Amino acid sequence: MQIAEIFYSLQGEGALTGVPSVFIRTSGCNLRCAWCDTMYASWKPEEREIPLEAVLAEVDRHPAAHAVLTGGEPMTAEGLPALAAALKMRGLHVTIETNGTIAPDGIAVDLASVSPKLANSVADTAAFPREARMQSEDRRWNLAALRAWIDGYDYQLKFVVRSEADVAEMRALLGKVARDVPPHRILLMPEGKDAETLRQRDAMLVDLCKRHGYRYCRRVHIDLFGNVRGT
Ligand code: SF4
Repeated sequence: MQIAEIFYSLQGEGALTGVPSVFIRTSGCNLRCAWCDTMYASWKPEEREIPLEAVLAEVDRHPAAHAVLTGGEPMTAEGLPALAAALKMRGLHVTIETNGTIAPDGIAVDLASVSPKLANSVADTAAFPREARMQSEDRRWNLAALRAWIDGYDYQLKFVVRSEADVAEMRALLGKVARDVPPHRILLMPEGKDAETLRQRDAMLVDLCKRHGYRYCRRVHIDLFGNVRGT
């Protein structure tokens, strides 16, 4: 499998925030978000082929009861269904962090942490024309795939928010998805790679969550460790 890194840390986002977890970050992504914080797994994917057995051996070194499949976009990684099944066989709780553009196709995970991308993720068209095209609405949204994740799994929908306009776009997307998503499963996460930027967006997000019933999503690993690889 193409693997960027395997590490043991605390889950920094979402329903399992703070839970010690082993993270398996695959390399390669079908999107190009302007603010991606794992460029080494998306815009400039590192090529490191590691056999499934070696990935599992690395996982076994850590005393984790939870595993997180992340990326890049893990659903693009060859061998991911076999890895998920092997982790489940070991008794681990498995979360997948996905951008929701690829249907699950029966993959064995316990929690789908789905993060559809909004227009704030589109790179500057003049500077990065190819990457901006890769981030067009028809490529970052796959309604059928989103419905499959929502219908088939315990899930949370995580949106990176920069302004109130992002929430209007999010609501338009959810209208198209046409599923009854309880507001507490919708997580609003501030856009930013450092604690100060995240904090500056807090007041707006708190207000939006209180008005609509959405869940505020901190990026605790940034608070604890900064934007540091392997955390
Ligand atoms: S989907 Fe995730 S990994 Fe891919 S470019 Fe966007 S933020 Fe980065």
